[in-house]
Amino acid sequence: MKRSKKNFKNAHILIIGSGIIGKFNALELSKQGFKITIADPQKQKNSSSAALGLLIGKMYQKSKGRSWELRKTSNELWPKWIKFLKQYNSNLHIEKPLIQLTTEQKNFEKLSHFISHHPNRGLKVLERDSTIIQNISKIFNMDNLKGIISNEDGRIDPITLLKTINIYLKVKKINFIKEKVIKIRKFNNQWISTCSNKVDIKSDVIILCNSLDALKLIDLNFHNIKLKPVLGQAIEISLNKEEINLLTLPKHFSINGTNFVRTDKNKIIIGSTDEYDIKPKENTFEELTDFLENKPQWLNKNNISDKWFGIRSRPEGEASPILKSLEKGLILCTGFYKNGILLAPACSNWISEEIENHLL
Ligand SMILES: Cc1cc2nc3c(=O)[nH]c(=O)nc-3n(C[C@H](O)[C@H](O)[C@H](O)COP(=O)(O)OP(=O)(O)OC[C@H]3O[C@@H](n4cnc5c(N)ncnc54)[C@H](O)[C@@H]3O)c2cc1C
Repeated sequence: MKRSKKNFKNAHILIIGSGIIGKFNALELSKQGFKITIADPQKQKNSSSAALGLLIGKMYQKSKGRSWELRKTSNELWPKWIKFLKQYNSNLHIEKPLIQLTTEQKNFEKLSHFISHHPNRGLKVLERDSTIIQNISKIFNMDNLKGIISNEDGRIDPITLLKTINIYLKVKKINFIKEKVIKIRKFNNQWISTCSNKVDIKSDVIILCNSLDALKLIDLNFHNIKLKPVLGQAIEISLNKEEINLLTLPKHFSINGTNFVRTDKNKIIIGSTDEYDIKPKENTFEELTDFLENKPQWLNKNNISDKWFGIRSRPEGEASPILKSLEKGLILCTGFYKNGILLAPACSNWISEEIENHLL
């Protein structure tokens, strides 16, 4: 028998994990009127708060396949979400543009070729004598930079984003349980999730948004899901006033795949590497900067003012991310090893459509 519309909205949904994926799902579903509980032992220390927040949407160099479709959906949804979330924090915005640079002629030719075949993406080749390239070359001691610019891609500050969603969830009185879920089971068409403090939470649906640890909660004899940890690292460099003025640099750009985010006139963040590991490396600085042949003087270890990392989950044997209904009332949203911030709206959009199959 189908649930009535009233019962449908009365359904209780437990979201396990409060990174950007869990939070965005909570945002979308609570806007639809569902009763939501989020469980996570920690609110702040996860890979979402370690992220740089670059939204590589239009710059993504594919134009078909699931990965592109998810990006396309996120590209369309981000402006609507920003407009909505601005009601809770007027500082939230996407800082544009995004710049991708390379020293490799072959890579540059690939980028230029992509641009000429996709005129509707709003991408442009940066001229060698453009102010942007000249300024970056000067500060980084480089003379062979080439690249492209996307005026429609940009960066959102992940911490501001997470905090803004928190404000909304608080206003909506969403129940937040600061506990780890250690076991889930089905009983009489309901799901029972046991927390580490032995408290049980009853719900009609569970959405697993707890990255690698989702594997600990599902029966791997029935569900063939494999995830690998992927380490992402970042360092912050702070300079003395006299050393160099970073204000001539764009706010964010990448050189040969390494991302740079200028956060102040004397501060720049550098990230991230993709290592199949769970511990940060001793030589993070070298890993992030050794691609520069003639490192400028200001870019040295003594200027590191902060350093952090995050562990993401990468699916093995299937594409990232994993958005799957495992059984009635159990949904898996994991495997966001890259671009989880970018893809969060596309993920919550998928959830909002999928949830009906679990409740009707
Ligand atoms: C250095 C770095 C730079 C990055 N840069 C970018 C970028 O520029 N752009 C971009 O789009 N993406 C970027 N990413 C990737 C992005 O951060 C991830 O894809 C995204 O954060 C994944 O979000 P998540 O919610 O799946 O996981 P997480 O943020 O890791 O959240 C998972 C949550 O689950 C909780 N949890 C685990 N087990 C349980 C349990 N049993 N019970 C309850 N809760 C549990 C954890 O405490 C955690 O809070 C970057 C990542 C890193 C590390």
